[in-house]
Amino acid sequence: MVSRNPSAPTPQQPHAGLLAAPPWQHAQAVALLPQVLRLTAPNPGLMTGPGTNSYLVGGAATGWIVIDPGPDEAAHIERLWQFAGGDIRLIVCTHSHPDHAPAARPLQALCAQRGGTAPPPVLGLPSAATAKASSHFEPDRALADGERLTLQTADGRVHHTLQVLHTPGHAANHLCLLLPAEGLLFSGDHILNGSTTIVNPPDGNMTAYLGALDALDAACVTHALRYILPAHGHVMDEARAVIAHLKAHRLAREAKVRVAMQARPQGTLDDWVALAYDDVPESVWPLAKRSLLAHVERLQALPGGTA
Ligand SMILES: [Zn+2]
Repeated sequence: MVSRNPSAPTPQQPHAGLLAAPPWQHAQAVALLPQVLRLTAPNPGLMTGPGTNSYLVGGAATGWIVIDPGPDEAAHIERLWQFAGGDIRLIVCTHSHPDHAPAARPLQALCAQRGGTAPPPVLGLPSAATAKASSHFEPDRALADGERLTLQTADGRVHHTLQVLHTPGHAANHLCLLLPAEGLLFSGDHILNGSTTIVNPPDGNMTAYLGALDALDAACVTHALRYILPAHGHVMDEARAVIAHLKAHRLAREAKVRVAMQARPQGTLDDWVALAYDDVPESVWPLAKRSLLAHVERLQALPGGTA
């Protein structure tokens, strides 16, 4: 007889609870599923939306994996420890931006200080040479593309398996995590809900970003992933449609960038942003110029370039 995770989704029984969108708060973890909690850090803002979503995957019998512990906020770190019942087995950072990874070492230290279980390793990818100093990061161990992270009960039975997918583009050291048993994709900052991912060269790269979107779409097919759990914003349904829409949006923007560069061949980013982002408020242009630069670099590298 084939054993099956009783909580795994079936086409007839989607995880409707995942799509509930309660008002944002930071004091309580939201149980998206019994084995998936979301705790939002108290760092709302222009770049972070309602705040960074830290996710806890696991359970009392297996301990928990923390995905994106967030900024170094003592109250948030304490809550992560509390909602995990003091049993954190792994800490994984999707990438090392300041709103995602700085809590990793303090959380690890808190686990060591409180005792009970061995301090969890901090896992992820080391920051590249292109990363800003504020995003410098060295995990205890670098995660391999395709690697599986498991949680087991004391008798050795595996109950939860996350799979790692390298997804450079937003950051060179970005990775996503898949929970195929539940059809979930933890997308970090590669895919957001309610805001647009910034691709900021040199650590950000538009060609890598688009390539990783294709890899994520392929993973959705292979693993029947349905829901996207972003680092900022609520859960999204119909993962493949979200990814297709996002890619189309990027390519449509790129087409406008190409037209702008053709219209003003000697132009600067300031000239091009006014043309290529004429549909967004001028207040957004300073940020938009970072992704604009990523498009410009990509167009200049393509065969045929901006011609
Ligand atoms: Zn980021």
